[in-house]
Amino acid sequence: MSDCIFCKIANHEIPSTVVFEDEQVIAFRDLDPQAPTHVLVIPKHHYATITDDVPAETLAAMANAIKEVTKAEGIDESGFRVITNAGPDAGQTVHHFHMHVLGGKNLGMGLLSADAQ
Ligand code: AMP
Ligand code: ZN
Repeated sequence: MSDCIFCKIANHEIPSTVVFEDEQVIAFRDLDPQAPTHVLVIPKHHYATITDDVPAETLAAMANAIKEVTKAEGIDESGFRVITNAGPDAGQTVHHFHMHVLGGKNLGMGLLSADAQ
């Protein structure tokens, strides 16, 4: 996916603020944060959405990244929310599977999103 912005971030072809990285995944700060902590966790390989036959090993690596990021951000105990948007009704704008990790404030319950309150 040569024109995919998140593939370029995964390959370090364009800059991002990386907070965690291993062989399978990279986590970086969202450009337009909706909470004090707003990190995107992505697989380095391109999948369009969570249902795009993502290997279980990759999903486990993403869960581990979420664990490491929430600890490093100091929100592992205060709490956080993980969201993945898939398709038009969810408002997915970047078509490379990503999980939003949001925390650092009370997120409320509005449509399970940080900015819909
Ligand atoms: P979604 O609406 O779930 O597809 O979310 C895409 C997210 O990617 C949005 O929250 C954007 O702010 C974020 N985003 C887009 N481009 C970049 C970038 N170059 N670096 C960091 N975050 C980005
Ligand atoms: Zn991609």
